Amino acid sequence: MGKALIIGAGGVASVCIHKCCQNSDVFEEICIASRTKSKCDALKAKLDGGKTKISTAQVNADNVDELIALINSFKPDVVINLALPYQDLTIMDACLATKTNYVDTANYEPLDTAKFEYKWQWAYRERFEKAGITALLGSGFDPGVTGVFSAYAMKHEFDEINYIDILDCNAGDHGYPFATNFNPEINIREVSAKGSYIEDGKWIETEPMEIKRVYNFPEVGEKDMYLLHHEELESLALNIKGIKRIRFFMTFGQSYLTHLKCLENVGMTSIEPIEFEGKQIVPLQFLKAVLPDPASLGPRTKGKTNIGCIFIGKKDGKDKTYYLYNVCDHEECYKEVGSQAVSYTTGVPAMIGAAMLLTGKWNTPGVHNIEEFDPDPFMDALNKFGLPWKESYNPDLVD
Ligand code: NDP
Repeated sequence: MGKALIIGAGGVASVCIHKCCQNSDVFEEICIASRTKSKCDALKAKLDGGKTKISTAQVNADNVDELIALINSFKPDVVINLALPYQDLTIMDACLATKTNYVDTANYEPLDTAKFEYKWQWAYRERFEKAGITALLGSGFDPGVTGVFSAYAMKHEFDEINYIDILDCNAGDHGYPFATNFNPEINIREVSAKGSYIEDGKWIETEPMEIKRVYNFPEVGEKDMYLLHHEELESLALNIKGIKRIRFFMTFGQSYLTHLKCLENVGMTSIEPIEFEGKQIVPLQFLKAVLPDPASLGPRTKGKTNIGCIFIGKKDGKDKTYYLYNVCDHEECYKEVGSQAVSYTTGVPAMIGAAMLLTGKWNTPGVHNIEEFDPDPFMDALNKFGLPWKESYNPDLVD
């Protein structure tokens, strides 16, 4: 049916590429392009021989001209951006210049400020609309499936949704005292930032990890979770009718938090460049270099993730509560595609989002967050491609 250019060859890209190959009726041809071409070639070697035709290329996604040249030579129907949030705008520029659809899993973040918000990407709306192409923002799990869950709850279960709590639990154990499950730099920037949530249309800011709750997750058990700022809060508060409050919680174990505090206290998580042996280095980037590569956690990680949303709202004038979630097993993911569940839960929705565009199921030109589209075909695809969802009408609530 179509051709996809996948940019990035890390943990998430690897899963997405496996899933494109499992969905070869839609993904007839893919090109894997990244900064380090050997990683693209290794993925191709692993997956070649199936129905999806695979090629590879070297590209620096910070360089718009290089991207345009690559898009013009491969001529994809969609570009799936699985590099880092810093590359979102250059890749969107290249898509605009070549009139190519765009999908990503994380919103743009400037390299020098750990602040992520949609304003930079939403500023492309009119230009994408005029070019007749679609940008699908945030097609991972959170953001991503959490937005699809919200659209599904709105469409089928509620007249208005007043409260959403997004709960992201990773109960996986990789056996290291400290490692991050996805790109360490992005992960640490996210969790060391101030927390925030939206109440009555206003952002309320908290100190990092200030708000803690304990939640008993289905199929996982009781875990400590902490309120974080998260990008989908911004778009869901606008796109879901009736929202009074929306929060995001993520679980962290004590060992992770103790190490993080210590690294922060000694300055290792700073993104301010320092002079070291005559060279400018960013402490957080140096830390990334000494931490385990998230892709190497796959064979060691045991346990499950449980990510979902609790909705409270009204249906036919009555109060209603509804919980939608997915449980994913690290070892099963590794058996299937050679990656742990955090990469898996992101890579599968990235493939599905691109498939929605390639099959024309979602095709409104412009720049759109995932909850703006019809959730039903995406929900069906989650069941088919390894992320089945579960629902409960009587969940425990978060106070
Ligand atoms: P990795 O660090 O494993 O992979 C990133 C890849 O991007 C690497 O292959 C890297 O190349 C490549 N890359 C980085 N900079 C450039 C560049 N300038 N040009 C070309 N390629 C580049 O990250 P993950 O796979 O863990 O994460 C990928 C994305 O997914 C991130 O944006 C992350 O924020 C997002 N994410 C989203 C989630 C969600 O639920 N929505 C959850 C988890 C992650 P090299 O190998 O040379 O370094």
